Amino acid sequence: MTFTVQGLAVARGIAIGRAVLVASSRLDVAHYFIEAAQVESESARLIAAKNAVAEELSELQASLAQMPASEAPPELSALLDVHLMLLQDEALTDGVLHWVRERLYNAEWALTTQLEVIGRQFDEMKDRYLRERKADLEQVVERVLRNLKGAPSAVTPVFGHTRKSSQEVLIDDTVDVPLVLVAHDLSPADMMQFKQSVFAGFVTDVGGKTSHTAIVARSMDIPAVVGARGASQWVRQDDWVIIDGDAGVMIVDPSPIILAEYGFKQRQGELERERLTRLRHTPAVTLDGQKIELLANIELPDDTRSAVAAGALGVGLFRSEFLFMGRHGQLPDEEEQYAAYKSAVEGMHGLPVTIRTVDVGADKPLDEKPREESYLNPALGLRAIRWSLADPDMFRTQLRAILRAAAHGKVNLLIPMLAQASEIRATLAVLDQARRELDHAGVVYGPVQVGAMIEIPAAALNVDLFLRYFDFLSIGTNDLIQYTLAIDRADESVAHLYDPLHPAVLALIAKTLDHGAQQGKSVSVCGEMAGDVTLTRLLLGMGLKVFSMHPSQILSVKQEILRSDTQKLKRWAHEVLASDEPAQLLNKAR
Ligand code: PEP
Ligand code: MG
Repeated sequence: MTFTVQGLAVARGIAIGRAVLVASSRLDVAHYFIEAAQVESESARLIAAKNAVAEELSELQASLAQMPASEAPPELSALLDVHLMLLQDEALTDGVLHWVRERLYNAEWALTTQLEVIGRQFDEMKDRYLRERKADLEQVVERVLRNLKGAPSAVTPVFGHTRKSSQEVLIDDTVDVPLVLVAHDLSPADMMQFKQSVFAGFVTDVGGKTSHTAIVARSMDIPAVVGARGASQWVRQDDWVIIDGDAGVMIVDPSPIILAEYGFKQRQGELERERLTRLRHTPAVTLDGQKIELLANIELPDDTRSAVAAGALGVGLFRSEFLFMGRHGQLPDEEEQYAAYKSAVEGMHGLPVTIRTVDVGADKPLDEKPREESYLNPALGLRAIRWSLADPDMFRTQLRAILRAAAHGKVNLLIPMLAQASEIRATLAVLDQARRELDHAGVVYGPVQVGAMIEIPAAALNVDLFLRYFDFLSIGTNDLIQYTLAIDRADESVAHLYDPLHPAVLALIAKTLDHGAQQGKSVSVCGEMAGDVTLTRLLLGMGLKVFSMHPSQILSVKQEILRSDTQKLKRWAHEVLASDEPAQLLNKAR
């Protein structure tokens, strides 16, 4: 039966495929396709792991039998019996082999997929004792996974699996079907893991529109919906699903008519994208001759490829924290960071790269940790520059690496989350110290322009202070909205209140732009507002000349710029800014 789950639109486009449910605890399991010729060896690998675990459990049984009764509680022996029985159960073995043979999943992926399938059956059991055996099944699967880890796969992962068009999907429903990942939650680090993966779309139960998980999904340029509450509960492994990333909806088990309709929409979207690529080399100039700079937001050095492909004039925001995440406490040293920044600089072939110092904390934890361990208000806690200033050694290491990369091309240094004059002075002092250390060691480094992010209302209100100290400013609207309206950007339950068009937010942006223009300093917007085509005209009218966004959004925004006249938009933007309900004016004739 067809049903829909409503969420928040995050990354545009339509994905049609089969659902892959992944429990958060299983996200570190490798997900890749094997070649058809590798089915036998991968199945053999699975069976060998299963047999090895069976042997392990039997040996444990035997050693229990040797022990004095006082040391070998009968419950333990009974538990091992249950584990052995679950391990030998055909539902597990046959199911796992099915995923390998029919879907070409690698062994670990097949195993965790089947665990999800059987786990659901356990959840639905009436008998409490039987229901609780799910935990035993998980332990058994964990043992097999551990065994597989010790016996690395002989097969080559096939990433970048070709996505089929919906037309092909309707015809061929065997292997090679697009897959859509459905999970309760994905951290930004999890998303990075899936960046080069096989998935054609994502849906999560939780998350806000500008949560960092959503931001990474957008950078992957595949349809995604977050905050689709209940999605991971209602969807079953392998269900057919449609993700409508424009409407923020997931359609489960669609009828043939719905499938055909969305297949059509999907092809229309593909054609539109192809058409837009023609604008790649067209300069972004408005009808009245105003030159606009379109820059790219990136997470990893490799993303410079898509930035260049989209015709970006540079990188306006390199979120360096993605180099620091998921490292289990082992932060990247100076050499590793230098290599990464240099690679980004070289990847842009002489165009400027703005490297933001690490911004961890809030919804970007360094490592995965249970939510309950976090502070009460992590977004208001030790985040971004506060974290850097709290660990000056780490901060100087990053600054030295950035300064060294600046010897290879034009680099701008961007500092996140500043609010206080004392923080500004402390930051600049650490930067001086990093330069002195490089001088002292005789290491070559280059000049950098230093900029501050305006993402806390206090900074926007006090923008003249920032303009005195910094060469340029960049408005982080994602956080500026969060902190102005007191709305957690990662919390889907208050997502309806997260409003880029709130008059207070617009007033803070306008003030920052106006004061920057008066001082003749560059002010960009690098938050998600910059890539939202429905806001392009308003931002132009407010005087914005530098937009930084995901590479996938650049061409649509450019198209909007080419059709705009900033002189006319200025008057209209004034009206919008003076209105109590700017959203209502937004679509009126301009
Ligand atoms: C912002 O806050 O708008 C921004 C660009 O930074 P981030 O999204 O990484 O917090
Ligand atoms: Mg921010």
